[in-house]
Amino acid sequence: MSTTDPFLKLPGFTASVRDKLAKLNLLRLADLTLHLPLRYEDETQCYPIHDAPHDRVVVVEGVIRKSEVQIRQRRQLVAEVRDDSGRLMVRFLNFYPAQQKQWQIGKRVRLTGEVRTGFYGPEMVHPKARFVEAGAPLPEGYTPVYPTTQGLGQDTLKRLVELALKHSPLTDTLPASLLQPLQLPALEASLRLLHQPPPGTDLRPLLQRHHPAWQRLKFDELLAQQLTLLTNRARRRAIPAPVLPSQGRLSGPLLARLPFQLTGAQQRAVDVISQDLQRPVPMQRLLQGDVGSGKTIVAALAALQAVENGMQVAFMAPTELLAEQHYRKLDEWLTPLGVRIGWLTGSQKKKVREAMQAEIASGEIQIAVGTHALFQDSVQFANLALLLVDEQHRFGVAQRLQLRSKGVASSGAPHQLMMSATPIPRTLAMSYFADLDVSVIDELPPGRTPIVTTLLDNRKREALVARVGEACRSQQAQAYWVCPLIEESEALQLQTAVATHQELSTVLPDLRIGLVHGKLSAADKQAVMLAFKEHQLDILVATTVIEVGVDVPNASLMVIDHAERMGLAQLHQLRGRVGRGSKASYCTLLYQAPLGELASARLDLMRRSTDGFEIAREDLRLRGPGELLGSRQSGVPLLCFADLEQDMDLLEAARNLAPRLLRELPDVAADHLERWLGSRSGLLDA
Ligand code: ADP
Ligand code: MG
Repeated sequence: MSTTDPFLKLPGFTASVRDKLAKLNLLRLADLTLHLPLRYEDETQCYPIHDAPHDRVVVVEGVIRKSEVQIRQRRQLVAEVRDDSGRLMVRFLNFYPAQQKQWQIGKRVRLTGEVRTGFYGPEMVHPKARFVEAGAPLPEGYTPVYPTTQGLGQDTLKRLVELALKHSPLTDTLPASLLQPLQLPALEASLRLLHQPPPGTDLRPLLQRHHPAWQRLKFDELLAQQLTLLTNRARRRAIPAPVLPSQGRLSGPLLARLPFQLTGAQQRAVDVISQDLQRPVPMQRLLQGDVGSGKTIVAALAALQAVENGMQVAFMAPTELLAEQHYRKLDEWLTPLGVRIGWLTGSQKKKVREAMQAEIASGEIQIAVGTHALFQDSVQFANLALLLVDEQHRFGVAQRLQLRSKGVASSGAPHQLMMSATPIPRTLAMSYFADLDVSVIDELPPGRTPIVTTLLDNRKREALVARVGEACRSQQAQAYWVCPLIEESEALQLQTAVATHQELSTVLPDLRIGLVHGKLSAADKQAVMLAFKEHQLDILVATTVIEVGVDVPNASLMVIDHAERMGLAQLHQLRGRVGRGSKASYCTLLYQAPLGELASARLDLMRRSTDGFEIAREDLRLRGPGELLGSRQSGVPLLCFADLEQDMDLLEAARNLAPRLLRELPDVAADHLERWLGSRSGLLDA
């Protein structure tokens, strides 16, 4: 929006500096004022070299007595600096030729860094260096240290921020009457304090971000996020969606034919979705249920409501394996009712795909199941009314938008139902996901026996192989053997899978053992999966391609090789492939000893818990929200300052204020969004 920000005319904002700032997402002066320090250095005092303490960052100053490039293990710039009290070696392992030129003998230099005892006595490695005149004044306040990018030095950035604080209006976006009850300080005072803490300030509450000034900025950030979410939601609701009355003409017969009854939780989800589809606003609902909770039938019933009204459905899955499985399931359930189901993937022959596309375009196909291939421009729907997205966190926002745009103008925007087995902890649900309605299936179909998980040292592998073989022979059990994840190399992962297949085939020659991995063609993958499903195979050796959604109810044993290499959420997904039938199920996590403390705690949690929520919370604690957010990242501004766990109370306050602000003081809300997002408010369109 504000491409004409005055910041471009101020001295120092050269094209190259602007490029660097853009990398930090700093596009306007106002953005610079909100670019807050990570920490501070105390450069108010200069120590004699001899007396400089060794346990913290200090400032010393002296004259360069030696300066040369040495090769000690690697090339480095080494200099000697002296003052009246002693001498200090300075080393730079990475340096530019220009830097080397600056280090001239006789020049006076002021150094900020930690003194260590090195081979030649006291030394500083990679200190911050300023070449100064004798008697140059020291800073009076603390020196901020900002997040920055290569080629943009702290001194430059600090100067630019100072300019921004001077030239950008720091007027409060929020009236005092709103801030008072929240006991938050004014914006300008908070910003000045955070950028330039005066001498004597206690730095601890600043570093820990408990200080009221930090609270104010974190609150403002959370408020901007809440306002964005609410605005997004309102915009989406402004576009009409097709009204799809529930008729029961097809869903009735389907329910009658099913070999099971819906659980209470499934029925509740079906009812709420059915209501949503009858409204003229696009549904935005997340259907969340642990692995095996039965989300597919809920999606199928939603699809039927669209089909009963003569409209089309797109059902997307993140992998071909899963898409084909959904296709088969829908085919089994719905083709007998006369519903036309199509299937589209990238690996199809061009002619087959084109024929399918033609039928989708003409409206003959009522439900199109597929992978990313459904997004392509060449795919046009006659009258798309509902978008089903399985494992939604695996798709990007851009992809979802693309598909949404396939709704026809006459009937409006399609309804969307997203499915996920990854539970969203409360804090995330309140922030990043706050613009979605959520239905939770919190009940597993009856008759499932809980999966018993054990940990086993890989040195006991032989005995385990024998036990798995025995269970297959005497109990007609079927087993998955999941090969380790090898992130660095897909080739190596394949090799390991082939070797494991070989190993098991040699030791268990009387059993039928299959192999499935990502490098097989889609048709071959399907053939192997089908053979396993029909019990023509006893053991299926697999890479993590089976991670999402694969459903073979008779399989009751799972071995996960090198379990310590996998994330908790991934282990939970994998484990969810068993325990789908009535047989007692077992999952063995094979690990390579010795296990570190963290790895051991993680695997132990998997052993103790089958609760997806507990596991997701732990994963969130250990790895942060990035993984869970996945697709949402480009749609909602990420939080830079606020910490969802630590700042729960601020989040609550922001959530309370945002709707009030939009209703009662829309100008204030607009100002606030402009300040925080400005040119980035294009993100609002997602
Ligand atoms: P997920 O939620 O992991 O996608 P699925 O939809 O694949 O789960 O369902 C898992 C299995 O449970 C499937 O075989 C499905 O047919 C079966 N199923 C679903 N709902 C019920 C139910 N109410 N009672 C018994 N089995 C069910
Ligand atoms: Mg599923």
